[in-house]
Amino acid sequence: MDLYEYQARDLFEKHGVPVLCGIVATSPIQAEHAAAKLATPVVVVKAQVKVGGRGKAGGVKLAHSPAEAGQVADDILGLKIKGHTVRKVMVAEGADIAEEYYFSILLDRTKRRYLAMLSKEGGVDIETLAKERPEALVKRNFSPLDGMTDTLAREMAREAGFDAVDVDKLVPVLKRLYHVYTAEDATLVEVNPLVKTGSGDIVALDGKVTLDDNAAYRHPDHAALEDHGATDPLELKAQKMGLNYVKLDGNVGVIGNGAGLVMSTLDVVAYAGEELPGQPRPANFLDIGGGANAEVMANGLEVILGDAQVKSVFVNVFGGITACDEVAKGIVQAFRILASEGIEPKPLVVRLDGNNAELGRSILSDANLPKLEQADSMDDAAHRAAELASQ
Ligand code: GDP
Ligand code: MN
Repeated sequence: MDLYEYQARDLFEKHGVPVLCGIVATSPIQAEHAAAKLATPVVVVKAQVKVGGRGKAGGVKLAHSPAEAGQVADDILGLKIKGHTVRKVMVAEGADIAEEYYFSILLDRTKRRYLAMLSKEGGVDIETLAKERPEALVKRNFSPLDGMTDTLAREMAREAGFDAVDVDKLVPVLKRLYHVYTAEDATLVEVNPLVKTGSGDIVALDGKVTLDDNAAYRHPDHAALEDHGATDPLELKAQKMGLNYVKLDGNVGVIGNGAGLVMSTLDVVAYAGEELPGQPRPANFLDIGGGANAEVMANGLEVILGDAQVKSVFVNVFGGITACDEVAKGIVQAFRILASEGIEPKPLVVRLDGNNAELGRSILSDANLPKLEQADSMDDAAHRAAELASQ
């Protein structure tokens, strides 16, 4: 899970990383009140979206009075930054910036180590810096068993070109940030910029944190950081039903059993659609898993049919532990459940193969379900589903 800047700021504060005060606002008037509460000569109003480059996109602005903070918030709220609509801003104490640095810690899976990166040239796009002036970015892999030691932090700071006074100030902050990384089970902690203020203090001005979802069970407090407002409503519904569903932007609904099969189904649908008018594409990923019963199938269909963009549905099942006749019964029952809920069926193409496929197919033909067709192969079914969505 990626966090918003203000959530990262809160975690930094909790673990003793120096940050400035910040208050979240969702309206201009709230921003004005927040600025009045901070009562600093300058405040900065920052768009809260989970993408970088907000500054360049007009999402970070200074204000010199509460009234101005309100006006600036009005400009920023509703702005679209890289496809993300700004619904919240953070009003923060204005920083007196002398220098901007870069620091990050992340999981280096290929090296099976952590990776720390430090640069004296922060506040800029780090990918560009890494490409154009790699020598300005100090990179160090280290073992989780060793952690971010004094020695390592000191070596990195010296190598990055900091003088002795700054090295002494940086080392404890880098170690604190490493503490955030481990204590919160993060896979990324990035600070850009990490700044030196006019009085020589080091402050984390912008934070990006990704938490490891696999460690969620160790952090009951992390659930509250999830932003349901930004989650797609269909994904939310699927989540509540315990379905493995990801919304995509096409119009062919896809259901399959097994993540691998569903992934390849997305590919064949996309290929089939390429040649057709309107280029139909997959509308979603949905894996109903092994042992899928009628209820799971009905839930899956309900979620997919709830997507207004969906024009046809492709059910692709390879019978294994779950036999095809079970799946077929599930589809028949799903149609009944959906009919009782007044949900209109859409053209549905079913491909059953594997364990008890013939039995499954005859159950479906005997049921005479409206708008349901069967296909013999995965390719045929993908073509037909794409064709139906293209009409
Ligand atoms: P990003 O563009 O999404 O990475 O947003 P940042 O939070 O990093 O802000 C972008 C830039 O705005 C920083 O690199 C700073 O130069 C500037 N900035 C951010 N906060 C302040 C502040 O409090 N005072 C001043 N003077 N500049 C700021
Ligand atoms: Mn930044």
